[in-house]
Amino acid sequence: MATPEARPLARYAADPANSRGRIHAEDEATFRNPFQRDRDRIIHASAFRRLEYKTQVFINHEGDLFRTRLTHTLEVCQIARTIARALDLNEDLTEAITLAHDLGHTPFGHAGQDALNACMADHGGFEHNLQSLRVVDVLEQRYARFDGLNLTYETREGILKHCSRTNARALGALGERFLNRTQPGLEAQLANLADEVAYNSHDVDDGLRAGLLALEDLEHLGLLGRLLAEVRSTYPDIDRRRLIYETVRRMIATQVGDIINTTSDTLRRETPGSVDDVRAGTDPMLRFSNGMQQDHLELKRFLFTALYRHHRVYRMAEKAKRTITGLFQAFTDDPALMPPQHYEQSRALEATDGDAGRARAVADYIAGMTDRYAIDEHGRLFDPRRLT
Ligand code: MG
Repeated sequence: MATPEARPLARYAADPANSRGRIHAEDEATFRNPFQRDRDRIIHASAFRRLEYKTQVFINHEGDLFRTRLTHTLEVCQIARTIARALDLNEDLTEAITLAHDLGHTPFGHAGQDALNACMADHGGFEHNLQSLRVVDVLEQRYARFDGLNLTYETREGILKHCSRTNARALGALGERFLNRTQPGLEAQLANLADEVAYNSHDVDDGLRAGLLALEDLEHLGLLGRLLAEVRSTYPDIDRRRLIYETVRRMIATQVGDIINTTSDTLRRETPGSVDDVRAGTDPMLRFSNGMQQDHLELKRFLFTALYRHHRVYRMAEKAKRTITGLFQAFTDDPALMPPQHYEQSRALEATDGDAGRARAVADYIAGMTDRYAIDEHGRLFDPRRLT
């Protein structure tokens, strides 16, 4: 296949001229299409800058070389853009969705999300995907005429990757696919899969770097075992660091190639004529081959037990949960402990939604924190030796 440069969009790609539009009508920009504009709004958002200091797997202060939520986001974005261009999908939209996909993540990664979800159990729970949408729809306050970033339907559709049926009912057209069990557009499907390709690959790299995974453990896995053997046979004298980089690099390239080839075949066979044909599907059209899907699931299971449940990661995660839970308790007991603008917000939400409103304002404040801000805030609240 020739390098795809500036080819026309496919029939099934999202076309900015046919966007379902924004919640608040706006004039078109002079030099950018609506999806480029979405991407720029996301990059200029304060929630985007905070990704730099939020955990992916390793807490931010554990080391300078591990992935953060921001570098993870950039890796997802570049993997997805390669695939978008090869399949003639909309690269601008793909970029916007991937850059926004983790904006709603709490500090301390999944441990933080689980803790906040448990705290919010009586008040509608906490889902990081839904929170990403809340960030771009409500919480970012930058524009004179509206709250949020007023993004296009297509970008918001892509951000909302998962959603419970209860929450979906409250979202109107955006929530319908979770009730009908249909699919989003291909750019949204792509962002979802590129996320998995990125974290599976970089978590292997980070896990090895941290000494929590051993190369010998990876030799027994299908995809990684094959790639390690391939690199070793081509470069018998290669040192350990280069062996890891060569293997992880091939791991990404192999999965990207598999997605492009498998999806091209599917699109040729199913011939969707428009984005709405893609949306009507019950299964994603953008996916791995069956063989790669098996390898992918095997690796996910391996990482779950060997890395995410590793003693060291587990201890840090439990500490993170206690930090989040302590903050939530203190702020819901007395919202005046929060900074004035969050206190005001809690009073406003409490006036309309009672205790659930108060809890939601606290969850918004905590979810927006970076790792170190949460640790500092916890210290300021609970350590009497600290000044306010
Ligand atoms: Mg992600």
